[in-house]
Amino acid sequence: MPLALRADQGRLSGLLPRGFYARNALFLSALLLVVLVGAFGVFSAVLESELPPVLARDAGAVADLVSGSVAGPLQKRDIDAIDAVLRTAGRASGIEQILVVSEDGALMRRLHRSGDALRVDAGPAGEIGAGVLVRPIAAEDGVARAGTVRVVTATGAHGTLIARAVRDGLIGLLVMLGVALLLLELQLRPMSRTLDRLTRFAGRIDDEQPPPPIEDVCPVREFELLGATLGHAAGRMREQSAQLRAAGQRLQAAIDALEDGFALYDSDDRLVLCNARYRELLPAPEEAFAPGVSFESILREGVRRDAYIDVGGSGAPAQAWIETRLAQRKTGSSTEEVHLSNGRWARIHDRRTVEGGVVSIRTDITELKQAHLRADAASRAKSEFLANMSHEIRTPLAGIIGMTDLVLDGGLNRELQEYVSLSRNSAVHLMDIVNDILDFSKIEAGGIEVESVPFDLEQTLGDTLSVQRLRAEAKGLEFRVVNELSAAQDLVGDPGRLRQILVNLLGNAIKFTDSGRVELCISVVERAAETVRLRFLVRDTGVGIPLEKQAHLFQPFMQGDASTERLYGGSGLGLAISARLAEALGGSLWFNSSPGTGSEFILQTGFGLREREAPSASSATTEPVPRQRNLRVVVVDDNAINRLTVVRLLAKRGHESMEAENAPDGLRLIRDEAPDLVLLDLQLPGMSGFEALERLRAMPAALAHIPVIALTAHALMGDRERCISAGMDGYVSKPFHIDALFAEIDRVLAQHRPGAADTADGPPARFARALEGLDGDVELFTEIAAKAVEEFHRFAGRIDELARERELAGLAAEAHKIKSNWALYALQGEESLPQNLMLAARQAEMDKAMETASKLSAALRVAAEELRDWLARTSQVDRERR
Ligand code: ADP
Repeated sequence: MPLALRADQGRLSGLLPRGFYARNALFLSALLLVVLVGAFGVFSAVLESELPPVLARDAGAVADLVSGSVAGPLQKRDIDAIDAVLRTAGRASGIEQILVVSEDGALMRRLHRSGDALRVDAGPAGEIGAGVLVRPIAAEDGVARAGTVRVVTATGAHGTLIARAVRDGLIGLLVMLGVALLLLELQLRPMSRTLDRLTRFAGRIDDEQPPPPIEDVCPVREFELLGATLGHAAGRMREQSAQLRAAGQRLQAAIDALEDGFALYDSDDRLVLCNARYRELLPAPEEAFAPGVSFESILREGVRRDAYIDVGGSGAPAQAWIETRLAQRKTGSSTEEVHLSNGRWARIHDRRTVEGGVVSIRTDITELKQAHLRADAASRAKSEFLANMSHEIRTPLAGIIGMTDLVLDGGLNRELQEYVSLSRNSAVHLMDIVNDILDFSKIEAGGIEVESVPFDLEQTLGDTLSVQRLRAEAKGLEFRVVNELSAAQDLVGDPGRLRQILVNLLGNAIKFTDSGRVELCISVVERAAETVRLRFLVRDTGVGIPLEKQAHLFQPFMQGDASTERLYGGSGLGLAISARLAEALGGSLWFNSSPGTGSEFILQTGFGLREREAPSASSATTEPVPRQRNLRVVVVDDNAINRLTVVRLLAKRGHESMEAENAPDGLRLIRDEAPDLVLLDLQLPGMSGFEALERLRAMPAALAHIPVIALTAHALMGDRERCISAGMDGYVSKPFHIDALFAEIDRVLAQHRPGAADTADGPPARFARALEGLDGDVELFTEIAAKAVEEFHRFAGRIDELARERELAGLAAEAHKIKSNWALYALQGEESLPQNLMLAARQAEMDKAMETASKLSAALRVAAEELRDWLARTSQVDRERR
């Protein structure tokens, strides 16, 4: 109900004018009108009720007066006297006629009004109507009646009176209304004007230059108060905004003075403010940085203008980059380095503020980046240099070791035998140190390559542990190995790296222990279906490590103390290398040691697990192969000592050698002599070993397939892979031990055995492992081979396609599928391709994944073709036999 009322009031007041003056004037006028009309009504009502009795009383008095005064004149028939009386009485108001009638009823005299004048005459005797007052006229004796006086009151007399009063009243009312409005105007106008001015003043109170305070407001207390309050508020506001302005200017000056670019974005990611440096570090026009512009459009503008070197244009890569940047920004905290097209580098830090905005800092890191690039280049140069130096150092060392081997083999007397073997040991030791330095420099340059191949732990560590056992026992130490791992499964990982770490730890343990025991405990930390985490603990009862040195033990060139080095020798790199290798394997290395009591070093790292395969064909080839017929070997090496060493070693086994000191001569020799084997140095003057190999493979088929073993003083990691992927059949690193050289020759030749590759009796040697897996059942193998041809082609096709689409997840899945089958058919060095592809794909290393994928698909195709050839030959032979 009150609501409806308010609505009504609203509707009503909606009809009224809204201005202060008009509204008040209207309201007050209405009020006045109501009051005046009311008063007038009351006045006329009073008039209406009070006037008739008064008039009747007056008429009665006139009648009494006339009846008393005309009795005598009437008897005397004195007309004049009667007229005089009538004239006097007729002046009274409200009297229309006065009639004097004789006793016999005859009208004697009549007074009546004619217009405004009073007239007295005999009159026509006629009807005398209402409104007549009758008084008897007493005779002289006071008993008889001389006649009657009749007074006729004017019928509309009081009406006329009222009408006049009303007319006058109305005029008065209008005059009063006019006067009232005048007074209203005088009072309301100034008030209304003051209100206007105050309003205007209040409206401009927060202007940069607010209006001067208003003093001459209309002198109403409330208005004066309001004016003063507003003036005061304006003053305070002025002060505050001046303070705010100053604070803002100080802040902006501080931001402008920053070395770095600074920008603040609001919670909608729109620019609030930024400094000039911020704009400088992103070349885009000034208006691109107007407050209110969104971060996204600033970014897009930059990309559109090719401000970033690697993300130009409007193509999909640019779009993807923008989306990545925007997504990063939503994470709340991101750091990004961008290369600008003006050649500079900027690092961008974005941090979210508590209000949900973003503070963005851009730092010019050009100098830093350049220093970094220079350092990288220097580091690369260093590692190049070391690689070259190693060649230079290792080549003569290899010569020394090879020659001493020959000398030692040649029946010296005991004394000489001792001297020569001492010098051989020194050379080998020197070679170890060179290898350490090389390894470390390669690791520092970020070039650790980790293999992932299946291996038998016991077999891998067998030789190593025997050597260490001999060394320990030679020092009178007890040497113990405890292995908790059951030997049923193969591990998958990098056996070489593992061996390297353990050799170093065991070597140290033996080196720094003079009495007591050195032991290696291998235990399982965690085991799942396909993985296992192992702990290798190397414990000794040696000198221990001084406490103050413990913190720096894994730093390069760090030895227990200066005297240790003198006492025990060493490069101080072993532990640094081991720790970094452990890290590269995804594991960790740490130690506990108490000086005087001993130390323990713990390596913990994970491996894959795989069912052990039947002893493989390739491992069979490392068994002494039935002695080869005498071979004809071309040896290409620019170093005469190396050539001599190799030639003599070959001769010891009854092989014939032909020497060439550079690649073109070597190729000529090969063409002329069609040897059984080529031993090819990689670093040859002019044409490199790789180039020579390429030319050889381009020769007619009979020559192109001659097996080639690379000889190299490059001991850098990854060389073996490089050689194999370039198409070498084998690889021997100088200085080689005579056994290593012949083992490799045997292995390579076994693969090229005429009986294996060139007859249709069995599958090519490369498939020996697969055949053995089938228990040597050639028929079954033939069946499976036909399937494998198809499968390998299909896999190759899918891998190519996935690689084209850069589908890492798909590549990982495909590599996983082919992994176990492929191991049986792969050439040496190719076995780990699926595993490597899987790892690279899972770790999103795009380049590596692409490279591995193309190698794998090529290898799959080659294998498929070789199988197909063999199948074709088999069926040919079958047909011929039939
Ligand atoms: P080095 O080639 O000089 O042995 P390492 O990096 O292998 O270099 O070792 C660094 C130093 O750590 C050694 O010089 C030695 O002082 C200390 N150290 C390493 N292993 C042991 C150990 N088992 N017992 C005592 N000290 C050790």
